[in-house]
Amino acid sequence: MSVLVYIEHAEGSVKKTSLEAISYAKALSEKLSLGEVIAVALGAISTDELSKAGPAGASKVIHVGDQKLNDGIIQAHAEAVAQVYKKVVASTLVLAKSSLGDAVAARLAIKLDAGLVSNVVELPDTTSGYKVKRSIYTGKAFAETMVNTENKILAVKKNAVDLKTDGPAVVIEEVTLEIPAADFVTSITSTDKATGEILLPEADIVVSGGRGMKGPENWGMIEELAKELEAATGCSKPVSDIGWRPHHEHVGQTGVKVAPTLYIAVGISGAIQHLAGVNSSKCIVVINKDPEAPFFKAADYGIVGDAFEILPKLIEAVKAQ
Ligand code: FAD
Repeated sequence: MSVLVYIEHAEGSVKKTSLEAISYAKALSEKLSLGEVIAVALGAISTDELSKAGPAGASKVIHVGDQKLNDGIIQAHAEAVAQVYKKVVASTLVLAKSSLGDAVAARLAIKLDAGLVSNVVELPDTTSGYKVKRSIYTGKAFAETMVNTENKILAVKKNAVDLKTDGPAVVIEEVTLEIPAADFVTSITSTDKATGEILLPEADIVVSGGRGMKGPENWGMIEELAKELEAATGCSKPVSDIGWRPHHEHVGQTGVKVAPTLYIAVGISGAIQHLAGVNSSKCIVVINKDPEAPFFKAADYGIVGDAFEILPKLIEAVKAQ
């Protein structure tokens, strides 16, 4: 018996959310005695990167290095993972909640006749049945879902589990699979990243600016702080509506939902629609000159003051680290 974890990687690195999924799988396996935690990675990725799966909790990584799997073609990934799942006699598949993860998981649920729960935030409660807690309504509420199938697929929400870092070294096994040509009917000929910056939905730290920044000419400070912290930049909706920042940076109910370890909001009031996109952040720091700004109620740390005085000092302090 085993628990299988589907690893996502991009630009040569295993995604942190996939390592979190491995740590979740390890805890799950220990709780329910499900056996070995095995991870599967598809397409070109280095052994060094795959070895990160060991400290996170996996005992083995099955690497299917077929170059055709590089581009995350959903049908082919689902077929490859289904084959590995059967080969390792798994009872549960764990993966990170993401766009690719959701698409692959839905197909796998059909292939494996498995119950699928997405946005999982805790280990299942098995005191009576198999009850899984998941986050709904952009993190404002939780739902409990009973899974009655033998095979189970759990897509774990980003930052919902602590990343394990003390597991032993992992065994990496290179495997070749026969994947039907029909699963490659969609082909991605090229991909372009909009910017060279860190992608907002995946960023561990986000520095976000609102109308309090007064104009696009002042965004240099947001960008500089983001660069020093290796963070992505975000903004409120009005800021992108008036064209100060591109639309893909707009965070909130109608924009990107983020769940970083640290969200720094500068000159953003904290309207409910903005909070809907950030309330899964682990730590929120708010900089606003109005002590009554609603964002302070959602903040872990608040700085009441003028962004134009505070940001330069913050940048200087971070540079001095
Ligand atoms: P403001 O509300 O104008 O706030 C600016 C803040 O900056 C104030 O708190 C002010 O005190 C502070 N400030 C000013 N000067 C300084 C300074 N020098 N230093 C420090 N602080 C300063 N909004 C989103 O962000 N995301 C969404 O997805 C979204 N979806 C929406 C969907 C709907 C259907 C609707 C109706 C609205 C939506 N909105 C959304 C808009 C939302 O309601 C707010 O209007 C918006 O978030 C406000 O943006 P803001 O905080 O940048 O601007």
